[in-house]
Amino acid sequence: MKLNMAVNPAPEMKGIDAYIFAFKGWEILVIIEHEGCRIPKGSELEQAGLIGARLHYLGVLGTIPCYSVDLDPGVGVPDGFSFTGLRDLFGHVGEDLFSAAGHAFQIVHWDRMHQYCGKCGAPAEYASTERAKVCKRCKAIYYPKVSPAIIVAVKKGNMLLLARNKQRKHAFYSVLAGFVEPGETLEECVIREVREETGIEVKNIKYFASQSWPFPNALMVGFTADYGGGEIRVDHREIAAADWFGPDSLPPIPGSISIARKLIDAFVKEQKQTSKER
Ligand SMILES: [Zn+2]
Repeated sequence: MKLNMAVNPAPEMKGIDAYIFAFKGWEILVIIEHEGCRIPKGSELEQAGLIGARLHYLGVLGTIPCYSVDLDPGVGVPDGFSFTGLRDLFGHVGEDLFSAAGHAFQIVHWDRMHQYCGKCGAPAEYASTERAKVCKRCKAIYYPKVSPAIIVAVKKGNMLLLARNKQRKHAFYSVLAGFVEPGETLEECVIREVREETGIEVKNIKYFASQSWPFPNALMVGFTADYGGGEIRVDHREIAAADWFGPDSLPPIPGSISIARKLIDAFVKEQKQTSKER
């Protein structure tokens, strides 16, 4: 079941042990168990003497309420607990808990980034009726920010356009992606990103699926597109290498956490289907 999101009112907590998504910096607090880890409950945090600031009610997962907490940067690691990167949580907890953790991190991040008003510098406080922070002095309102980005699988016959990012530590190839500019439609962003990064023109842009990507607050909007012209010309600013790959000769690709992988998997499945039909 998915997190049923809510802002307030938080439910009666009597006798219910809530999930607490507690963050220190970019890392989430987990309880070590067997060979994996799990999300701690409120009573376990209390027992460990971990007091967090800025508690936010997120909604319920089934019948269990969920909260996000920002821990003091100086807090130690109590016995049985550990801090781990959000990405490393993938595979250790169910997909619903994983996406709830991503949601929690975005709320924590928003709260941290808006302790003070960006316009006049006065302290910001919580709005009473919605998830927002309001400047005490000038009343400017700050909502949690979501940054839309496109990600696109460009197909040419039975080949897929994949590129290796310059920044990434891991040398894998993936489909192209980039943030939407102000004033731009998603389709215009697809055309621009592919053109800028690889010199390729695209057509037949179709929506695929979307994914919240909490690093820290992107919304990845996935598309497929067909090759429309041009030769590969790598930009060398963001992209180190790009090429067309067939379904049986793929380079190292991202793990199953990402929509990038879902786009690549869908391409491979489609190609296998087509070659069977031939
Ligand atoms: Zn202000």
